[in-house]
Amino acid sequence: MIGTGKRYIAVVLPLKLGWTPYYEVLPEDNVSRGDWVRTVFANREYTGIVYRTDVTPDAAPEKIKPILSVERHLSPVSGNEIRLWEMVADYYLCTIGEVFKAAYPSMKISEEQALARARERENARRQKLLATLDLRMHRLEERLEKKKEKLSSATGKPSSRKDSARLQDDIVRMEQMISETRLKIDEITSGAGLQPACGTSGTVRDCIVLNEAQRNAFTEITGTFRDGKPALLKGITGSGKTEIYLELARETVMAGRNVLYLVPEIAMSRQLGDRVRNMFGDLLLTFHSGESTAARRDTAEAVRSCVAGGRTYIVLGTRSAIFLPHNNLGLIIVDEEHDSSYKQESPAPRYNGRDAAVMLARIHGCNIILGSATPSLESVFNCRCGKYRMSVLDRRYYAAEDAEVRIIDTAAERRKGGMTGSFSRKLTAQMAQTLANGEQILIFRARRAFSPVLQCPGCGEIIKCPHCNVSLSYHRAPDRMTCHHCGYSAPFTPECPECGTRLQGLGSGTQKIEEETALLFPEARIARLDSDTPKAQARQIISDFSSGKTDILIGTQIISKGFDFPGLTLAAVISADSLLGVQDFRADEKALQILEQIRGRCGRRDRRGCFIIQTYQPEHPVYRHLSEGSSETLYSALLDERRQFGYPPFTRIVNITVKSGVEEKAESSARTVAETLEECLGHPGSENGHETVSSPFSPPIDKIAGLYIRTIRVTLRKDRQLTASKRLLAAKVDELDRKLRHFCQITADVDPE
Ligand code: ADP
Ligand code: ZN
Repeated sequence: MIGTGKRYIAVVLPLKLGWTPYYEVLPEDNVSRGDWVRTVFANREYTGIVYRTDVTPDAAPEKIKPILSVERHLSPVSGNEIRLWEMVADYYLCTIGEVFKAAYPSMKISEEQALARARERENARRQKLLATLDLRMHRLEERLEKKKEKLSSATGKPSSRKDSARLQDDIVRMEQMISETRLKIDEITSGAGLQPACGTSGTVRDCIVLNEAQRNAFTEITGTFRDGKPALLKGITGSGKTEIYLELARETVMAGRNVLYLVPEIAMSRQLGDRVRNMFGDLLLTFHSGESTAARRDTAEAVRSCVAGGRTYIVLGTRSAIFLPHNNLGLIIVDEEHDSSYKQESPAPRYNGRDAAVMLARIHGCNIILGSATPSLESVFNCRCGKYRMSVLDRRYYAAEDAEVRIIDTAAERRKGGMTGSFSRKLTAQMAQTLANGEQILIFRARRAFSPVLQCPGCGEIIKCPHCNVSLSYHRAPDRMTCHHCGYSAPFTPECPECGTRLQGLGSGTQKIEEETALLFPEARIARLDSDTPKAQARQIISDFSSGKTDILIGTQIISKGFDFPGLTLAAVISADSLLGVQDFRADEKALQILEQIRGRCGRRDRRGCFIIQTYQPEHPVYRHLSEGSSETLYSALLDERRQFGYPPFTRIVNITVKSGVEEKAESSARTVAETLEECLGHPGSENGHETVSSPFSPPIDKIAGLYIRTIRVTLRKDRQLTASKRLLAAKVDELDRKLRHFCQITADVDPE
């Protein structure tokens, strides 16, 4: 600042910019960090956030443009929010602008402004009204005072008995008017009818009476909090984890602090929503990606108004709820912390909501609890090395035993002629018994559609998606061929396009399982639930099954999540091996988690459930673990394997993805990327190398939506070099992206799922 009076600021724009552009402001603009400003960048108008004030421009000052305006009607972004953006950008190798965009996705300026203006008008009206009421109150009080004085001087004088009575009448009337005015003022200042309601702590339900195991875990967890560590609660389904979360949340709210309750998907929190609402009433705010932008903005506004009004709130939301304008957070709960839905795949920031929540807790200095029946290896590892602390609940709340696991060797059954389509004789016998008992059945199959593959028996041709390198699935009713990766869909043509032979469906998806089930049990009431099911219908299907209106529910992973089905005593997995099949170091861990979740669904309360797994690999450790119930040993084995092969959590993986519409460009660009990264990071073959850069490889599906995909896996050691290596990697990827932009897209994914 050379006494010109000109000042410069750095602004975060909702763009993928590796830097924050500078703008000129006037001293009287009086901007601070977090303020919203309108600017022009590359000939387009953007609304951005003041990131730093009083910066010294490194370019010629005359080249720096002035801002267009300061958007005073928008509430400033807090320092804590910006801190989170920085941490997320830093960790996930993206730009702060990309995180800003994720945090404020609906910043369609005009819309936002219209809303803000309406709010302003409403506020102005309120303020005027308040001022009038205030004045009236003041006058009334003054007059009341005078009347009271008169009354006291009049008492005792016999001449003025009539006067006294009148005065007393007046006083009563005035007191009533005063109290009415006060009520009106209270109504206005509490914002009734204006903001989405946000109650006071007075409405919280009474505390929960925990049983002994829960009490012990609870005490342990509060101890962990006192030591300033994240707590991990490992507890089988039905052990009462949720009740512990709710009790922790209740204590937090009673202490006047706010709570963020994260769930992987809102679908499963539907039942949870009722439980939280029962306890917290109108303190509850929900937030998820499925809601309209307007509803999301209302929640953000409600959070802000709670903060401003000193009221407490509990937000129940999916991962992006971490970006709400939180303040005074006392507790974060991360339910089903292992769930891969916490990971945002695209676009950047490709963050894991669980890990970002840990960052958020650190920023706010608040407590955080992660919970799961099947914690992620990462979190278990963090406990083993002392970063987190684990508490365990290993008994169900309602004393029912864990479901009995029966592994059925499908190959052996087939040899004995014991298979009818997808079903083994043992399974159908168990199903018949269950139905006869008036109990319910859950059938899990990892693939939707009727047949996942269509093949020509004449020439061997497999029908593929025209845009992706995957086979099309055959769907019934209506008959269509659909791609599960890009959404392509076409009417089913029964003849092979090459030789005209009638096509054959291979494999059985949920639709076929449904058909087979109906043939086997024509009397049973059957429903199917997968991502082909329309949302509104899904809710009905769940509630029908919960209340016993259907006997058998068939579905994909959706049915494994967090539902409480009291009448369910048999769960079965058809073709379980499809869960293991993928060439991915996390496959076994994921398979175990899904299977444990399904098992947890059945035999709650007083009845012991039965869990049947049909497999071609009955000796597989994942199944053995399930039937022998040795989770500690399996976790140890999986961790050993990860250590041995240098996989996370012992290393950190960053996948660099190169995509191009031209296969040759994807290929050659990926080679350039791999070579460049290896040059600057890798020390192939060297013992003390810190990183490994793989050669480019094709992922299992190497073409999606017309883009050819190659991946380079960078494995970073978790040592003192880690931060430096990551920075270097980020800089190189950015450089490569700019260099190769015309040929391909390059993205970095830290901690890929
Ligand atoms: P989880 O979250 O571990 O699956 P829940 O918290 O849903 O387990 O508890 C399972 C069942 O037990 C629920 O129906 C719940 O209401 C009940 N329950 C758990 N703890 C208590 C408690 N302390 N008092 C009353 N009911 C409880
Ligand atoms: Zn496709």
